Amino acid sequence: MVDFTLTDEQKDTRELAHDFATKEIRPVAWELDKESTWPQEIVNKAWEVGLMNTHVPEEYGGAGLDYLSGCLIEEEFGWGCSGVGTSLSANGLAMTPVLLGGSEEIKKHYLGMLTEEPKLASFALTEPEAGSDVSGMRTTATKIGDKWVLNGSKCFITNGSHADWYTVYAKTDKDAGHKGISAFVVPREAGVTVDKKEDKLGQRASNTATISFNDVEIPADHLLGEENHGFKLAMQTLDRTRPGVAAAAVGIARAAMEFAVDYSKERVQFGVPIAMHQAIQFMIADMATKVEAGRLLVWQAASLLDQGKRNTLASSHAKRFAADSAMEVTTDAVQVYGGYGFIKDYPVEKLMRDAKIMQLYEGTSQIQRLVIARETLMPRKAQEPAAATA
Ligand SMILES: Cc1cc2nc3c(=O)[nH]c(=O)nc-3n(C[C@H](O)[C@H](O)[C@H](O)COP(=O)(O)OP(=O)(O)OC[C@H]3O[C@@H](n4cnc5c(N)ncnc54)[C@H](O)[C@@H]3O)c2cc1C
Repeated sequence: MVDFTLTDEQKDTRELAHDFATKEIRPVAWELDKESTWPQEIVNKAWEVGLMNTHVPEEYGGAGLDYLSGCLIEEEFGWGCSGVGTSLSANGLAMTPVLLGGSEEIKKHYLGMLTEEPKLASFALTEPEAGSDVSGMRTTATKIGDKWVLNGSKCFITNGSHADWYTVYAKTDKDAGHKGISAFVVPREAGVTVDKKEDKLGQRASNTATISFNDVEIPADHLLGEENHGFKLAMQTLDRTRPGVAAAAVGIARAAMEFAVDYSKERVQFGVPIAMHQAIQFMIADMATKVEAGRLLVWQAASLLDQGKRNTLASSHAKRFAADSAMEVTTDAVQVYGGYGFIKDYPVEKLMRDAKIMQLYEGTSQIQRLVIARETLMPRKAQEPAAATA
């Protein structure tokens, strides 16, 4: 039986997130976008009402919510402002490798940091020479005595300027490609340097930074999982987080559609509201289908995770479709607004700029297609990582 009914708890979670997005995010979203302002106040409030770190199991101080609930929250955040939403949900990306590969002590300490105070963590995989192909990374971790010593730098790190700890991927065997990568948890106070904050096209309320490690020493037990198995950990992480990114893309598309619907009923041309013109109706119809279909793919990818099943293919379907749809829907929303859509006094140009990143981070749309093609042409065994790329 297929049942799309949410539980009462899931409905409450969605309502809480929608209410938060309506009252705390929407009223300031366009203002934050203007000056690329960091939304610390919203981070504090979201943490206080329990809308952050929702996947942290109860034994480490979290709510232990299911993945579907996480996606319901991310859609509402994406609807409110996906830049703010990215700032609020990046902890989920950073904490997943810790949940998957950290010792009991490491989990208690680092997940506890996030649940005890509104602190942030970042996921640091990408480097200037290693984007889609992470095997080209140059950051190294060398074992010296009972410590690991890290050297190198990472770019485009979400919340990088504000994080208290980082999940860092580094080469522990330089000649072994993606099989020579290991994952570590690195506290900021170990000596992580924040080099540069990026000035971005969209999601301007989120922080994106370059960080570097210059002989940064961490204890031996800060290795996550096994040495040289970091790539697999990264891929397992992305399987779990891509549905959330896709959900945020659905939220952006839904927001753009709602603005387009309202505007099309108000704007009169040729003596009738433009919503009366079939060309406009068809654009709205396509928007509605893309929002619905995107959400169903997200729910499928999240439900598989909640059932403990491998979701690599479903996750890439959701991320690819929802991201590309968000770009199409927001572009069409600008079209419905006509010239006004191009003007910053109107809401939809921001959504179009914000949507673009959905096709880029956590694996570009091309990389999702590579995963989908590979999984379709050569279905893999349950435990293998799905792609050689982030
Ligand atoms: C705002 C923002 C936030 C980010 N946050 C994080 C973060 O928190 N942590 C983190 O580690 N990274 C983060 N990233 C990095 C992001 O994941 C990478 O930008 C992304 O993986 C692409 O890498 P790249 O930019 O080097 O592009 P490249 O890999 O250089 O790709 C360039 C183009 O080539 C295409 N391409 C590459 N390889 C192939 C192929 N084999 N087949 C077909 N096409 C291909 C790509 O799809 C793309 O169109 C963030 C990036 C941005 C912009």
